Amino acid sequence: MKKILITGGNGLVGYSIEAPIKITRNDCDLVDFNKTFDTFKKLKPEGIIHCAGKVGGLGGNMNYKGEYFYQNLMINTNVIESARLVGVKKLVSFLSTCIFPDTVEYPLTIEQIHNGEPHISNYPYAYAKRMADIQIRAYREQYDLNYSSIIPSNIYGPNDNFSLEHGHVMPMLIHKLYLAKRNNTDFTVWGSGKPLREFIYSKDIAKISKWVLENYNGTDPLIISGDGEVSIKDLVDLLVQEFNFKGKVIFDKSKPDGQFRKPSNNSKIKELMPNFKYTSFEKGIKETISWFVSNYEKCRK
Ligand code: GDP
Repeated sequence: MKKILITGGNGLVGYSIEAPIKITRNDCDLVDFNKTFDTFKKLKPEGIIHCAGKVGGLGGNMNYKGEYFYQNLMINTNVIESARLVGVKKLVSFLSTCIFPDTVEYPLTIEQIHNGEPHISNYPYAYAKRMADIQIRAYREQYDLNYSSIIPSNIYGPNDNFSLEHGHVMPMLIHKLYLAKRNNTDFTVWGSGKPLREFIYSKDIAKISKWVLENYNGTDPLIISGDGEVSIKDLVDLLVQEFNFKGKVIFDKSKPDGQFRKPSNNSKIKELMPNFKYTSFEKGIKETISWFVSNYEKCRK
């Protein structure tokens, strides 16, 4: 497929996907239907990888509930409807493992997406994203469109948002550690360090999403996660080692732990792409830190 369009072209995932057309929020406000439709009509893509969204870590989700709900709901609705109207044949949309119910059977499986309330810390984002799953299912059935979604675990990598308030755990800890080392101060981590997360490197998910767009014709969303769970404490230890940080590490229990864990069943993508080599956690972390340090002045933070 030649004419692939990426929405969220300057985001964590969009940045790493190789594709001829990338749009960012400066090119088109996807919250606005007319602008979205006009942009797609002008660009005439054959396929779309839809990565754009209002995203953030635990802090962002808890502090901007209204914005996260409205913007994600509008963006997904406008993108998928405009794609249909301009005759886009294939589309892959990004969901997230945090859209699953809080009370759920582990590992997460796609049958459980709509089986209960999401975790209280991110329900507006989760419900808005769940609607993209519904929209795609409905469009497949009514319009016979070959659209699908992927559900990644916690993505990290170069060009992330390194904000100290609403970033995800990996970029935020990297930024905090960078400052603690530079200023000779303590390094403060949120919560107990006990929660578990599955991480996936942005460059891996970029390659996988392109493969899915070009090769996958199934109905089910595909769960994509790396190799197993890591505790926040283990992540902290790895980062401290990588930065060679000798100062004090504080676990601030007045800050939230969020969801305790959300291990997922990624067997379907493993079956579909048996030879795909996932980047090791150590290598991904090294590359991400090195990108952040070299781009400190100009990166999103
Ligand atoms: P989540 O996976 O959707 O909950 O989002 P995050 O990527 O923000 O990860 C949150 C987990 O990391 C929680 O268990 C937090 O307590 C823990 N954590 C530790 N330090 C930080 C931090 O500085 N920022 C964030 N966002 N999370 C942190």
